[in-house]
Amino acid sequence: MNWITNYVRPRINSIFSRREMPENLWSKCDECGTMLFHRELSDNLNVCTNCGHHMALTPRDRFTALFDAGIFTEVEVPQPIDDPLKFRDQKKYPDRLKAAQKQTGEAEAMLVAEGEIGRTPIVAAAQDFSFMGGSMGMYVGNAIIAAAERAVMLKRPLILFSAAGGARMQEGILSLMQMPRTTVAVQMLKENNLPYIVVLTHPTTGGVTASYAMLGDVHIAEPNALICFAGPRVIEQTIREKLPEGFQRAEYLLDHGMLDRVTPRKEMRDELITITRMLMGLPPAILADLPPPPEVSPEPPTPAPTPDQDSEQTS
Ligand SMILES: [Zn+2]
Repeated sequence: MNWITNYVRPRINSIFSRREMPENLWSKCDECGTMLFHRELSDNLNVCTNCGHHMALTPRDRFTALFDAGIFTEVEVPQPIDDPLKFRDQKKYPDRLKAAQKQTGEAEAMLVAEGEIGRTPIVAAAQDFSFMGGSMGMYVGNAIIAAAERAVMLKRPLILFSAAGGARMQEGILSLMQMPRTTVAVQMLKENNLPYIVVLTHPTTGGVTASYAMLGDVHIAEPNALICFAGPRVIEQTIREKLPEGFQRAEYLLDHGMLDRVTPRKEMRDELITITRMLMGLPPAILADLPPPPEVSPEPPTPAPTPDQDSEQTS
């Protein structure tokens, strides 16, 4: 029976292990069509290495890249009542939620965390476009309030990364109520003299742009991000005119005074450290790593001074 263990089993194993090879080692850039190696792309924070196109980044990956050594603590968000309207389109709302939770591995469309960036304590919140279009429902409202309350309690600045298709229609008027709720939360930060910085990522639209995403002390956008209330297609259909090139994109909005900066993702962390430290009245961060400690080499013991024979001699 030795031939089974020595020959047949390894053959079977090799056939099956070959099938376990991941198939999606490559992803294609939406902008330039270059095939990008998965690892290379994630190392570059999901920015195309060929054309610099910024692809979506999940809140968890963003926080891992943002916080010192990738360490952060999640801030608990109170769970709202589920499906208050018993909403149903092709699917029941709770089923849609469950599908999104399974697909993203996240509880909802916003993640709140606390930690340090460049040794600067902050609270951060990031919206997840892959979770039902990052839509703003009661949970997102609760998340922003939880983030603001935590920031006030710890006297830390709040940095928010927005990405949303707008309000969550499955929650109807209750999702629209998150606009005033989050506005009050932002006001709470201002009353406590704490900075509120918004990083607008692609796309930030609808009720989100009409509330917390546009109330920051500083507005930074990622390159080419679409930032608008009503999208370009809707406007074009309404006014029946061709819109200018790059309309409602980050660079266009920067030129027209709606943003303070457009910053590539790779430089975002350093920029956020500089801005938060400046607004908190802290000395500038040392961006370089500390030099290695001086090498402690065992020095040769200095020879004990030999008593001078002459001086000891008494004449
Ligand atoms: Zn590209």
